[in-house]
Amino acid sequence: MDRVPDYISPFTAYRAWQWDSEGLKSMNHAAWTPKVAFEATCDKVVGFAGGVNVALADVHHVPDEDCTCGMYAGIDFQHLINIGYASQGIHGEVLLWGKLERCSLGWRAQYAYPKFFVIPPDHLPFQMIEVQRRVQQLIAYDVDIYLQIDRTPAVGGMRLPLWMKGYGWSQQGIGHLLEERKEWYTRPTVPPPVLKAGDRISVRDKGIAVVTQVDGSVVHFQMFGTFNYRQDVKEFVWSKQNWRWETDTLGWVTSQSAVTVAVKGDVQRFTVGGDWKPGDKIMLDGKEVTITSVKRT
Ligand SMILES: [Zn+2]
Repeated sequence: MDRVPDYISPFTAYRAWQWDSEGLKSMNHAAWTPKVAFEATCDKVVGFAGGVNVALADVHHVPDEDCTCGMYAGIDFQHLINIGYASQGIHGEVLLWGKLERCSLGWRAQYAYPKFFVIPPDHLPFQMIEVQRRVQQLIAYDVDIYLQIDRTPAVGGMRLPLWMKGYGWSQQGIGHLLEERKEWYTRPTVPPPVLKAGDRISVRDKGIAVVTQVDGSVVHFQMFGTFNYRQDVKEFVWSKQNWRWETDTLGWVTSQSAVTVAVKGDVQRFTVGGDWKPGDKIMLDGKEVTITSVKRT
């Protein structure tokens, strides 16, 4: 028997998903099926037996205490923001049950199912007909769907219902999307937007990255709060269809700098990609702060 007791009644955690034209996926591309509990599997291989690979999943109960397997979820929304995952896709509460393990990223669970979804503005196509078609993929899960109104995810941030279980499409959510698009259409001219720090970009097959710095033609961006890349600005295109910046490639992993910033008198030190100097402004948790000192690592 397992030392860790199974959690029979589900409880709530918070996570992010990749959501694209192919449907809903974990950040590692594992597909989530509507109306079916997500069951985590283990793909670690321990060795050979009779000439075939023996997967650890055959010998341990997922998630295993000494493995990295399981369905990952943050403790709550603030935790998901803190670990850098809240901007990586759509997000929402998730029910966990079966076997559970605590880890630095929150929980690793055996079974999970979405409780509700929140869609950030850069995850919806521009055309309303396309919005309705795409959202059908999420409606198939039969849980509430909300719109995140601000670009940056925040606990207590404004959200509007888009589709409610047992009720259907919400006039409020649809109205908001129409307003947003009408404004865009009625601009006298629509110049292509300029890529800047704080912008979110969609990296094909990888998820959403956040621009930390634009230095001439070099764009520095970050994924999962810790991985830093640089890429030429020419590699980014503004997709009118999807209404967001997109790129096919991550570019290069960048040099790291240990930077110190002062936030409301509190000194914080963290590692970030790119070449920075004291006095530069940097985005931290969606706010612009000034760097006080830099140490190259
Ligand atoms: Zn495992």
